Amino acid sequence: MKFGSLEVKIYIRIYFLFFYRKAVARTTMDDVTGAQLIAEALKVQNVEYMFGIVGVPVIEVAMAAQAAGIKYVGMRNEQAACYAASAIGYLTGRPGACLVVSGPGLIHALGGMANANVNCWPVVVIGGSSDRNQETTGAFQEFPQVEACRLYSKFSARPSSLDAIPAVIEKAVRTSIYGRPGACYVDISGDMVNDKVARDKVRVVSCCPPPPVGLADPSAITEALSALKASERPLIIIGKGAAYGRAEKAVRQLVEDTGIPFLPTPMGKGVLPDDHPNCVAASRSRALLQADVVVLLGARLNWILHFGLPPRFDPNVKVIQVDLCAEEMGNNVRPAAALLGDINAVVTQLLEGVHRDGWRYPSDTTWWSTLKEKMAANAKMTTALATQSTMPMNYYQVFHHISQMLPQDCIVVSEGANTMDIGRTMLHNYLPRHRLDAGTFGTMGVGLGFAIAAAVLESGHGAGRQRVVCVEGDSAFGFSGMEVETMCRYKLPVVIIVVNNNGIYSGVDPDTWKEMSKMGDLTTIAPPVTLLPEARYDEVMRAFGGRGFLVRTAEELRSALEASLSDWDTPSLINVLIDPASDRKQQEFPWLTRSNL
Ligand code: ADP
Ligand code: MG
Repeated sequence: MKFGSLEVKIYIRIYFLFFYRKAVARTTMDDVTGAQLIAEALKVQNVEYMFGIVGVPVIEVAMAAQAAGIKYVGMRNEQAACYAASAIGYLTGRPGACLVVSGPGLIHALGGMANANVNCWPVVVIGGSSDRNQETTGAFQEFPQVEACRLYSKFSARPSSLDAIPAVIEKAVRTSIYGRPGACYVDISGDMVNDKVARDKVRVVSCCPPPPVGLADPSAITEALSALKASERPLIIIGKGAAYGRAEKAVRQLVEDTGIPFLPTPMGKGVLPDDHPNCVAASRSRALLQADVVVLLGARLNWILHFGLPPRFDPNVKVIQVDLCAEEMGNNVRPAAALLGDINAVVTQLLEGVHRDGWRYPSDTTWWSTLKEKMAANAKMTTALATQSTMPMNYYQVFHHISQMLPQDCIVVSEGANTMDIGRTMLHNYLPRHRLDAGTFGTMGVGLGFAIAAAVLESGHGAGRQRVVCVEGDSAFGFSGMEVETMCRYKLPVVIIVVNNNGIYSGVDPDTWKEMSKMGDLTTIAPPVTLLPEARYDEVMRAFGGRGFLVRTAEELRSALEASLSDWDTPSLINVLIDPASDRKQQEFPWLTRSNL
């Protein structure tokens, strides 16, 4: 059946009239539907944002959510919706909700749940499922959803009846933020969505308080302090746990009152500003390799920190590990002191010990001069690459101009291989929780969902709202590219910069591609890393009413960025064509160093 625009309008009107009437009827009677119970329970738990894609059987849940005062953002793929909901959790400490339909809808969201769980970010996924009385019959989109989610979540359950919904939602929200944060799943069968129950039969469940705060064992604090004070080459590593735990004030005090150099992990960037005098990020390899005592604040010794092992760390390094997850203690390296508790509280405990005798790490040590020397040498190398004026541009040139123009308080979303790695060293963060990237799971495709979540949050901040800038590799952009429509629909003024090298890791130039096309079947000869040379991603944004710019030179880049940053109503995409052979500067260690212990 083909609809004309008039029919569509009439259809939408009838549809809303029908649901509006139903909603009014519902509220005047003392009955509530499953959809209303879910929405109201989420609202009671201070869940303010829902991202999802509606369809049978959850459309009424989204409408009830809006009626309950929850902001609903309709996305184009459940994966991106789940990324967005989890970013809300990381940025606010309260989970976002992700609403998906049965079967394939839920399965698409699993990628987002896995990403949230691996990053320790809270999110609550609500999935519609087939009717209970059709279980095992081959129902529409039937799938064992509760079981499927177990591997990707901390908690996965289906309320046994309508009156159990508020308690199960409370448990999902609470579990997502208590202990180590993570993903939780609540299944709602299709028949429960519109089923009704008398309101007075439903147990009232109040809002769960913020997570209880744990303090470290005082004897472990004493051990930590004596290791720290005996250290010759101390280093504080600030992870995204410190960002999530909103520990910026205490961490700054620890750094400034002890005078110890610090190194942020990728999303630990901004807990203290990157230009802080104690930040030794530009000497990362050296700092990791030679530190004799490391204070690990909310970061895991996983691949991002090279497992805490040689060849990247000293084999005798003493780790003072601060984490709220007991099972994390001793992963890969046995800590000299295991400080189990909330970072904010534990750092405050450490500070008490530091202040008691006024201990401070001296600023005139060989350790400081070694680090400073290395930082200066690295800065020189980067500046040389950044100030080249070759055409097409390389990564360093592009990031040099971007970093000069971005407002200091902007939220930087970043993904891609080289784009993310080089961007991380050149795009500075000055505020906590202002960087979102591919994270612990190395997930590509998160960028647009994260940017949408950040922009939706910012849109609630009125005149004080901050810019969201999404710096993407061309390959990374492709995973969730259709979400530019979502940005245009909700008028979210995200600035997307696609650093386009025509491929994954690297690509080929248009002439080579043309030659290659003449040589035979591209499926047999085109290098698997290649993407269409000079693809017009900017036109994709234009197609939905956003602003698109194709740029090749530094001047074009600067004027496109200026135009984009001055427009607070329209999303824009700047497609920066760079040298497809551009690469990272020489590294001391190969990427993803394997440990040799
Ligand atoms: P990064 O990617 O920055 O290295 P990770 O995600 O690997 O960070 O590690 C973050 C760690 O922080 C996790 O082990 C998590 O359990 C911990 N964490 C999260 N919030 C807190 C908090 N408030 N207090 C203490 N530890 C926390
Ligand atoms: Mg690329």
